[in-house]
Amino acid sequence: MMDKCLEQDDFCGSTLKGKSGNIISILGHNSLTGNKKKYVVHCSVCSIDEELFPKGSLKCNKYKLLSGCSPCGCNGKYKWSIVQREVLIRRRCDKTGYIFIAFERKQKGAFTKIKLYNPVTRNSWAVTINNFLNHGRGDPVQGEIDRHISHSLTVRDDEARVSIFKGTGKFPEGSTFTRSSLKDKRGESCIWEYTCPTCSEDKYVKAGVCTGVFLSTNNALKLGKLPCRCTIGKGYTKPQRGFDILEKLKECSGLFRGWIGKYTNGKDSKFKWCCKEGHDNITKVAPFLGGTRCRVCSYLAKSCGNGHYEDREEEEDYLYIVLPRDGVVPLDYFKVGRSFSPNKRLYGLKSVAKLDFEIHKLYKGTHKQVYAVEQELIGKGNNSLFDQHRPIDVVWSSELINIDCLVRVIKYIDESELKEEDN
Ligand SMILES: [Zn+2]
Ligand SMILES: [Zn+2]
Ligand SMILES: [Zn+2]
Repeated sequence: MMDKCLEQDDFCGSTLKGKSGNIISILGHNSLTGNKKKYVVHCSVCSIDEELFPKGSLKCNKYKLLSGCSPCGCNGKYKWSIVQREVLIRRRCDKTGYIFIAFERKQKGAFTKIKLYNPVTRNSWAVTINNFLNHGRGDPVQGEIDRHISHSLTVRDDEARVSIFKGTGKFPEGSTFTRSSLKDKRGESCIWEYTCPTCSEDKYVKAGVCTGVFLSTNNALKLGKLPCRCTIGKGYTKPQRGFDILEKLKECSGLFRGWIGKYTNGKDSKFKWCCKEGHDNITKVAPFLGGTRCRVCSYLAKSCGNGHYEDREEEEDYLYIVLPRDGVVPLDYFKVGRSFSPNKRLYGLKSVAKLDFEIHKLYKGTHKQVYAVEQELIGKGNNSLFDQHRPIDVVWSSELINIDCLVRVIKYIDESELKEEDN
């Protein structure tokens, strides 16, 4: 590729690799010396385009060439001449059907404005060379028309999709579907806003804890999946569940004390509340909404029956005395009670009273005997022996007696038909 018309030296004939992978071949030099000595080169990419880069037009000094610099279009900082730019503009006009009218008078390199005309829209406009060549800016009037067409295509497409959703037969009459401006993870606009004739007007919406607009995807709607609360097990948000709980607490005069730990879902999340009797409870959302209420109250309600089993009168039964402790601290009252299986009963008591227990005495007899002694000691109706000696303000059981009566109680039992058991 050596050019016989150019001066030659040792550097000529060598090839260099440019930064963008192009190959620069040194053809010869301009026979000048010092700073003015320029080598004429051939670029494996640019020189092929002789209209833009006529033969002999690529020149550069040795220092720049050796530092990897390409004196051609491969170099991002290449300064295009007006002639070259005009070539590029005309080429793009050939592709788009526009007509290049003129450069604006003020030349500002790539930011020089050019005037163009589009015979299709009969619009003429001005645009910078940079925007026209590098950013694909076209006729703004054409752009407006294209957008309009694509919008009406989308509207038609949306209508078709909505009729597919409705065709599943899963959405109730009155459902609405609107394409959302939100994009999914892949940046596609397949998200829809759904309103349900029931859920979009229910108590949550009225209470302001739900917008009434449910987001879903094309695919889910095509399968007829309802994104609203009509679907059982649909996730409830923390404010929505909070609203449900408050509603129920209002009915039973309870107080909401707060969530326990992180709200995970509308079923298993736990919250603290207090019943109208002042018992603190920690309950999961689902059982609470399903009707579970205060465990202390429910325990007390169960033990409110007088505990007499007519059909079991001759069965083996137990009377027990337990001394409750708060940790290691003994309390100033004790409990008397009866049970067919005292160990099981104690286990239940511990969890309700949140105290530790120790069986102090255990007596055995028939159910008939045990029941009679128990009623005598602590039975309902203010006639029992120790009715006047109950601790005030202790609510977990109604069979409690002040500790200073312990000796008298034991004496009374010892004199009964019951037999003391080892425990
Ligand atoms: Zn090049
Ligand atoms: Zn619904
Ligand atoms: Zn309670």
